[in-house]
Amino acid sequence: MARRLVVLGAGTAGTMIVNKLRRRLPQPEWEITVVDRDDVHPYQPGYLFLPFGTYDAEQLSRPRHDFVPEGVDLLVGEIDRVDPTEQTVLLADGRSLDYDYLVIATGTSPRPDQTPGMLGEQWRRTIFDFYTLEGAQALATALSTFDHGRLVVHITELPIKCPVAPLEFTFLAEAWLRERGLRDRVELVFVTPLPGAFTKPVASAHLGGLLTERKVAVETDFMVEHIDNERRCLVSYDEREVPFDLLVTVPLNMGADFVARSGLGDELNYVPVDKHTFLSGAHDNIFAIGDAADLPTSKAGSVAHFSVEIFVENFLEHVEGRPMSHSFDGHANCFIESGDGKAMLIDFNYDTEPLTGSYPLPYAGPLGLLKETRANHLGKLAFRWVYWNLLLPGRPIPLPAHMSMAGKHPADAPTGSIEPFTKEQP
Ligand SMILES: Cc1cc2nc3c(=O)[nH]c(=O)nc-3n(C[C@H](O)[C@H](O)[C@H](O)COP(=O)(O)OP(=O)(O)OC[C@H]3O[C@@H](n4cnc5c(N)ncnc54)[C@H](O)[C@@H]3O)c2cc1C
Repeated sequence: MARRLVVLGAGTAGTMIVNKLRRRLPQPEWEITVVDRDDVHPYQPGYLFLPFGTYDAEQLSRPRHDFVPEGVDLLVGEIDRVDPTEQTVLLADGRSLDYDYLVIATGTSPRPDQTPGMLGEQWRRTIFDFYTLEGAQALATALSTFDHGRLVVHITELPIKCPVAPLEFTFLAEAWLRERGLRDRVELVFVTPLPGAFTKPVASAHLGGLLTERKVAVETDFMVEHIDNERRCLVSYDEREVPFDLLVTVPLNMGADFVARSGLGDELNYVPVDKHTFLSGAHDNIFAIGDAADLPTSKAGSVAHFSVEIFVENFLEHVEGRPMSHSFDGHANCFIESGDGKAMLIDFNYDTEPLTGSYPLPYAGPLGLLKETRANHLGKLAFRWVYWNLLLPGRPIPLPAHMSMAGKHPADAPTGSIEPFTKEQP
């Protein structure tokens, strides 16, 4: 009888996995099924640019089935729960699926419902998010008529996916207002639950410096308790208030609710896994990968990419009863748009924080780490092509899964282990 692999989520990680594993797991010995709630694959990094008119919605989505290879079943349906004892996945419409091995790759989503007042009468009037297509589109409309007042960019709580995106939005908004001659009429405020502009010393110094240079006020250690819709202000647990005319918030991010219903998650519905192998500590046939896992690194497409490279090799060993010999080091890299057609790049892992230097080649780059360059910006824009044409189909990309110290300047780094971008670590 064929062995059954079920992958939950046909997003960045799930799509890569089924493409790579279909080539490596022989048919008909292995049946592979991937489940998602719809057949539209979004390019989420594009949401950042949509409010500024760089992309339109059509450029940011493709049918999921275009990226699901022959020999893999794509099942469209809402996942309701997993029964790890029966080794079954139940869908909301009553269908069920048996598995021998399960991979949870259902990502993380913004949850404005978790902050009192966020979904009040000002939602999508003066309160917006850009972490969803609808949010980014509504924000584009609001920005097109915004010409004076207080524009507040706000992070509710960490971890969030692409933790640099709120900073990028701030830099892009600042440049956008400047280009339109509106900068003097708009007060820009960045509100964060962190003690600084960013979490880690070297990156925080660079990014905090940019905010100061661009006259963006920073409100730190701000834990929002509720949003007062009538007075249009954020109110924190320690009773500070931040008024706004236009609020761009990143709501609390949470893993999928079915993870909690299945008894597989932590308090934010992330699946606890071994941070080097992605194997659940509770079930020897369940893995979680990408944003759905509780990995103490950035929740980012780059992490999904590097993780999948390691996961595939380990999975093949695991199903043959051999010890998993590959170990994920938390490698992540993120472009950081800084406005005016430039961007920075950061590269880091569980143990080494973002450093200055060059990437991917030690001296030739061409990308500069923690440095504003035009090449970095072009790299970020080019990534959309790479995503659709190389990454999702699981084609080789000449970037090593493990972080390399070649081309980096460790003298800039404080010593000791770090856990980037997550406020509280397990
Ligand atoms: C504004 C923004 C900018 C970003 N910029 C960058 C960037 O520059 N660089 C970078 O590396 N990353 C960036 N990211 C993050 C990146 O998009 C994600 O980290 C990445 O897509 C995670 O992949 P994943 O497979 O874990 O989750 P996803 O790609 O989100 O896939 C999860 C899938 O699970 C499905 N799913 C969830 N629950 C259910 C359910 N109950 N039933 C059925 N299906 C379900 C969803 O429909 C989805 O398709 C950005 C994200 C945003 C929002």
